[in-house]
Amino acid sequence: MTNALAFLARDLAVDLGTASTLIYVRGRGIVLDEPSMVAVHSATGQVVAVGSDVKRMIGRTPPSILAIRPLKDGVIADFDLTERMLRYFMDQAHARGHLAKPRMIIAVPGNLTDEEQSAVKEAAHRAGARLVYILKEPLAAAIGAGLPVNEPVGTMIVDVGGGTTDVAVISLGDVVVGQSIGVGGDELDQAIMTFVEKEYALELGERTAESVKILMGSAFPGQDEPRAEVRGRDLVSGMPRTVVISGDEVRQALQEPLSVIAGSVMATLSMCPVELAWDVVEHGIAMTGGGALLRGMDDMLRQATSLPVYLADDPLTSVALGTGKCVEDFDAFTRLVPSGGSS
Ligand code: ADP
Ligand code: MG
Repeated sequence: MTNALAFLARDLAVDLGTASTLIYVRGRGIVLDEPSMVAVHSATGQVVAVGSDVKRMIGRTPPSILAIRPLKDGVIADFDLTERMLRYFMDQAHARGHLAKPRMIIAVPGNLTDEEQSAVKEAAHRAGARLVYILKEPLAAAIGAGLPVNEPVGTMIVDVGGGTTDVAVISLGDVVVGQSIGVGGDELDQAIMTFVEKEYALELGERTAESVKILMGSAFPGQDEPRAEVRGRDLVSGMPRTVVISGDEVRQALQEPLSVIAGSVMATLSMCPVELAWDVVEHGIAMTGGGALLRGMDDMLRQATSLPVYLADDPLTSVALGTGKCVEDFDAFTRLVPSGGSS
């Protein structure tokens, strides 16, 4: 490609999340938001569907079809599928360009090794990007949440995603201390499944468990304590059966994974240099990611840490918007990470 054509390519920001992928196009904003899921034919490996079509298939596939989340645990478990998924989404977003390849900033979990980062870059190149920069996800989330990341002031961000929770203290444009743990929204769903199985001998599907979490889950006792009927399968008879469970029970089920998240926040704070820790005490903890939307999440963390805790305006899009901000001012961004790009 010649440089004369470079202007035809739209620069992109990508939030390659364990649960969803968002694409932001320079000058246009977020143009795509889809589950990070791929369905393949089990015998041939051929891709059958990508994104939201696959989400509808979860728990309903015949043996001939596998519904896969290639980034489930926060690392690229399946490299080839990640690349194909990204390529598909870029096509959907009309972002691959026929004449020119775009530059791309891609947000990845803060704890990826250099090797894993190169793998992500490679996947993005193969999917059609010309230049690829990596942005640490907590940094992206903080920028998206409007926090002053470039100041010499400690800012704490807790991003609760699907497969992972990223906790980081940021100052002067980079992560000072951070942790990424494998406990996020998926683990909460799993805890609900385990609870209902133990208490009621009822097996729940993953999608049902996630709905229970979203509709009636909470991290802290609230005003209304909902009750709802949930559909599962009797573990003894094997037949479909329903039970009525209460919000209180769901909260009980979520307690353990939630305490792991709170523990990680406290561990990160304890590893943080003292001046920065006091900045966090003063300015509070910002929460992003879909998991932050769990009712009472902020109250739970506030109680556990005795610090001010608040939710970003739109927790599900913070990372994409933050990465998008960098794409809008690509030159300023590349000055900050002069060695971060690869072509
Ligand atoms: P990732 O960045 O890993 O792709 P997201 O930030 O998109 O993850 O968050 C996905 C997680 O958020 C899922 O586990 C989903 O169930 C959860 N989630 C989304 N909305 C809510 C809600 N209203 N209440 C609780 N959890 C939610
Ligand atoms: Mg995310």
